[in-house]
Amino acid sequence: MYYITEGNFAVLLDGLKTEYDVYVPVKKDKQRFYKKYTEFSADIVIGEVRAFEPLKSFFSLARGIVARGFSPEIPKLCEKPLCIVGVKACDLKGFKIQDHVFNDHDCPDSAYRSLRQNNLIISSDCTLCIDTCFCLSIGLKPYPQEEFDINLSQVSGGFIVESGSNKGKDLIAKNSSLFENPKSHSITGKNEARAKVTKDVERNIQDSGVPYQESFENIIERNYESKIWEEEANTCVECGACNTICPTCHCFLLYDQKNEKNMARLRIWDSCMIKDFARVAGGANPRAKLWMRLRNRFDKKFDFFPKVAKTYACTGCGRCISACPAKIDIRKVLKRLVGDAKR
Ligand code: SF4
Ligand code: SF4
Repeated sequence: MYYITEGNFAVLLDGLKTEYDVYVPVKKDKQRFYKKYTEFSADIVIGEVRAFEPLKSFFSLARGIVARGFSPEIPKLCEKPLCIVGVKACDLKGFKIQDHVFNDHDCPDSAYRSLRQNNLIISSDCTLCIDTCFCLSIGLKPYPQEEFDINLSQVSGGFIVESGSNKGKDLIAKNSSLFENPKSHSITGKNEARAKVTKDVERNIQDSGVPYQESFENIIERNYESKIWEEEANTCVECGACNTICPTCHCFLLYDQKNEKNMARLRIWDSCMIKDFARVAGGANPRAKLWMRLRNRFDKKFDFFPKVAKTYACTGCGRCISACPAKIDIRKVLKRLVGDAKR
């Protein structure tokens, strides 16, 4: 464990930007967004809470070219490797699903794999929670425990720093003059801040009544024929925001487009809530009704991924709750599913 002052952290980021494209969270009005780092500025927020956009935005673009003409060369998504700063625990859990789909097998997505292998993740503890956060009910803490190179816990005047990988250890060793041994009051400050934000998330969970993951077993199977799906999907306007904003959703659509000279193949994020998502040639659609698609979305998250990747495909980040114009709240649906499963 080390301590770094805010000033020395700025020096560290200045050094990293020669090797990486560095992105930092900045606050605008009440939201936090990632911005490419140029110099340390007052709007940078390392702590606080997850950014508006999910971490997946850096590793699989919302719209990107995957092939140009008939060239076998795979277009690069960016020139330098990525360094993403201030990543929160809920977004790091998203890697478990994204890696399972795009990387952890014999036929990986090469652009995704190269970004993942070369990236540097400087994560940070949440120092506050917003009313849609429910990470604790999905088995996470509001501070990173894995999937980071170094983690920052904001304390008075700077950060407590912990390494989580060899790359992180090397980074600290290479820049050892910027780090110092932490004082005991800084460590106490870190522990107290973690305890406070954990309590705040617990309060959120109690207020919304969202169940803990221990009660999720078989909730989809047991409610497969339930009226819950039709009732909950009733207000859905099929916008797909719940999928695109989600750090674990990963479905995409390939299409070809021509500019003046060449053809290119592009990939865009897709949404399983859209009617034509599952339609096949000839027009048959196994999920023609909205409620079937809502059931499928929950099925993937709470039945399919626990079976294939041993984890729920939800991080409790609450983004889909804020994004849904129909006010469909995943916490309420889970509460109903668990309640019905108990019955
Ligand atoms: S389903 Fe909703 S709460 Fe869960 S990870 Fe996706 S956006 Fe976050
Ligand atoms: S965000 Fe809400 S309205 Fe839009 S597709 Fe998802 S559930 Fe339906």
